[in-house]
Order: sequence, then C-alpha cells, then structure tokens
Amino acid sequence: MTASGVRVRIAPSPTGEPHVGTAYIALFNSLFAKKNGGEFILRIEDTDATRSTPEYEKKVLDALKWCGLQWSEGPDIGGPYGPYRQSDRKHIYGEYVERIVAAGHGFRCFCTPERLEKMREAQRAANLPPKYDGRCLSLSAEEVTSRMAAGEPTVVRMKIPAEGSCKFTDGVYGDVEIPWDAVDMQVLLKADGMPTYHMANVVDDHLMKITHVARGEEWLASVPKHILIYRYLGLEPPVFMHLSLMRNADKSKLSKRKNPTSISYYTALGYIPEALMNFLGLFFVQIAEGEELMTMDELAGKFDPENLSKAGAIFDIQKLDWLNGRWIRENLSEEDFQHRVLQWAMENDRLKAGLALSQSRISKLGELPDLTGFLFKSDLNLDPSAFVKIKSPPEEILEILNTVQPDLEKILEWNVGSIEAEMRAVADRMGKKLKVVVAPLFVAVSGSSRSLPLFDSMAILGRAVVRQRLKLASQAVASLVGPKN
Ligand code: GLU
Repeated sequence: MTASGVRVRIAPSPTGEPHVGTAYIALFNSLFAKKNGGEFILRIEDTDATRSTPEYEKKVLDALKWCGLQWSEGPDIGGPYGPYRQSDRKHIYGEYVERIVAAGHGFRCFCTPERLEKMREAQRAANLPPKYDGRCLSLSAEEVTSRMAAGEPTVVRMKIPAEGSCKFTDGVYGDVEIPWDAVDMQVLLKADGMPTYHMANVVDDHLMKITHVARGEEWLASVPKHILIYRYLGLEPPVFMHLSLMRNADKSKLSKRKNPTSISYYTALGYIPEALMNFLGLFFVQIAEGEELMTMDELAGKFDPENLSKAGAIFDIQKLDWLNGRWIRENLSEEDFQHRVLQWAMENDRLKAGLALSQSRISKLGELPDLTGFLFKSDLNLDPSAFVKIKSPPEEILEILNTVQPDLEKILEWNVGSIEAEMRAVADRMGKKLKVVVAPLFVAVSGSSRSLPLFDSMAILGRAVVRQRLKLASQAVASLVGPKN
C-alpha cells in the first residue's frame, strides 16, 4: 500500500477494439495516481463471456502499453489482489451474492426471457421505462427451493427501495439525486452462475481496495445500484468521478461512424503515443496558451480533476495533428525519430508482409513505393474518378461498399481467412460474383485497381484503417451518384 492509500483502476471489457475513450479514462486514472502518490491498476472485466475474447484482451493491454501507461497490478503482471481478470475470479462472487440474498436484499427470479420480453413490450406500448415488474419478489421460500431443485433456470436480482431517492456526491457532477423508482431490480447473478458487470465490479473494487472510481459518464446512472450493493454488503463505497465522454466537433458522442475511435487507427497512421497522451491530457489541466506541449510527467504535475467540465472533451483531430507534428519536430532527437519510423513501419509485420506480397510482382526494387505505399499512407486522397474505371455503375459500387462495411464489423478475428470468408458470404448474399464485389474494394483500400492481393492487404492494414478507407470511399462514390428522384 502506498503512503497515500489512493488506489485507482482502469477496468476495460475486452469486447472490441481498444477505444481512445479507454485511453482517455486510463490516462485520467494514471495521472490521478501519480499526482496523489497512489497506485494505478488494470482489471479485465470479461463477465460478458459471449462478447469478450482473449484477442481483444491482448489488444487492450497492448494499446494501453503503447500509450505509455503503466499499471502496477494487472492480469499480465499479477499483484497482491489478483487474479485481475474477472473470469479467473468466478469462484469469488457467489458468496457475496448469497450474503445479499440471505440478508433479504436479493431474490431469486425465474422469469423466462420470453416473459421478460412481453413485459418490456407492454411497457413500451404504455410509454413506461423498461424495468423488471417484480413478479418473483413475493415467491415463498418453499417455492423457490422446489423450483430450484427441479432445475428451473434462475437468476438473482437485487431489491430496490420502494420510495425515496439515492443521493450521492460525484467528483465531477457534484450532488446527484436519482429516484429509486428509476432504478431497475438489477440481475446480480446470471443463470449460468456468472455475476453481472455490476456485481463483479463492486466486489472487485472492494477487494482490490479501490478508493476512487473514475470512469465514463455512461456509468453515472448505475451508481445507485452500486451504492445499494455496497450498502447491502455493509461496505463503504469509493469516491465516484464520472468523466464526460469525448465528443465529435459537432458535440455528438464520439463514435466510429463519424471519427475513427480505435487506438490502433492512430497507431497505424503514425501518431506518436506521447502526442496522443498530450492531446488527451490537456483536457485535465489548465494551462496558458503556448504551454501545450507536455510530457506525461508535466501533465501529472499540472493535473487537477477540478478542471474537468461536464461539457465533454472535443476530439479535435486538427489539434491532435498539430501536437503530433510538434512532438515529431521538437521533441524527438534525430536518432529517436529514425527509430520510431522503423518501429512504425515494422508494426503488425506491415513491412515484412508487404514485401512478401510484392516480391513476385516487381522487376525493380524502385517499384516498391508505388506498389506498397498504400500500406503506409495516412490518407489515400481518393478521387471519385478512381472508381470510374470499374465496370459496375456508381449506384452498384455504392451498394457494395455500404453492404460490406457493416459485414466487416461482424468478423471476430481479423485475418486473411476470415476476411475472405466474409467477402464470399457478402457476394453470395448480394447474388454477385466475388470479383464484382472486390473490384471497388481494391480501389477503396489501395487507391488503385492494380495492387497487392486484397484480403492480405486488408489483414495487414487492420480493421480500423479499412473501416475508415471504406467510409471515405463511400463518400467519394456517393458524389458520383446523382441525387435520387
Ligand atoms: N468494464 C466497464 C467498461 O468497460 C468499466 C466500468 C467501470 O469502470 O466501472 O466500461
């Protein structure tokens, strides 16, 4: 335990590509620990077994390490309060759920998914917020025992006070009051015996001695449930701080449909981690104009959670570009710069794999930049005319690009085999030949119709870059399609 006793954490769920929002919250926690002489730890929250994958867990850890964030306890390095992955802690939670049930604060629920769906439908129809209606609240102990003995699937839900409201003070939002009426009788233990996020999160924050919970504002509405769980277990809740989400320039929530949100996108384009951290860290400090270029230590020195605004941090790519440029030009030695360039080129085996694909296609080495350049470019500067050579009319190209984009999101493991399988499935579904579907993709991904093999190139570029290129291609092609009558 550190002198200050302050312990904070980042608790990512490995269910998708690491998001810049995760880096933003992680940075806040890391700076908070640094400023207070505390510990910053990492816990993997994988209670959602259907969506969590080891591949994503590795990506989250790699991405946060790439950012230069260092935790003192975590699934990769262990620590005194491990294990740090919730699926490895399954055996821990049951006892806490039982304590809540035994004290009369929780109850067994046997409602089937079909019944719950009907209930929600009726609530929607009556314009009521969807919420468990409490049907199983009054089951007798005998009935519960006999239904469980008969093997009926069951979950444990928490009871919610019938009246009044939950009042708490949030480090960012100040005094908050949420009526109990707005809080659902949350499932704590699922039918498969796994805890829900809420249950595991509270138990782990307690056992890992977390003193301050700083996370995204989307969790603010869950605080009443968490406070109740702490209360039901006779435990003291930590201090809560809910950070406003990052937003697009138009104030909408930062989402991959508008802006690339994957850390891997920024890595692939050659942003340097110090600049990304500098950019995100500026939301947590108050500085005068001209002082923007800051290292992580300088950020920690000036860090002040009081500066946080509820308005949200605007993800201004131009500012990030400006900072990145300044970092490259002003803060890297010549040697460091060269080292970073090589590191970046070799990342994800990009250079090696690109060369392997090129060898059979060139007669002089000097042809390499033209052939492989698209694997490294941050922007293809795609001109709509690039699509004119394709046989399909613009309407068909647009339809293909728009169909492929959501399909690529379905791929679980991003590799040549899975990309090819998905593309064949799209072609089948659209009733088109594979070659018709891939022709526009070639141009979208590489900027040219004569290039390296498409599926390999997509695998090398990574999902985040491919997503962005297809989006830009759709926009370019849309400009060729006349307005609908
Ligand atoms: N697993 C949650 C997430 O990924 C963490 C929320 C929290 O920090 O409590 O958003």
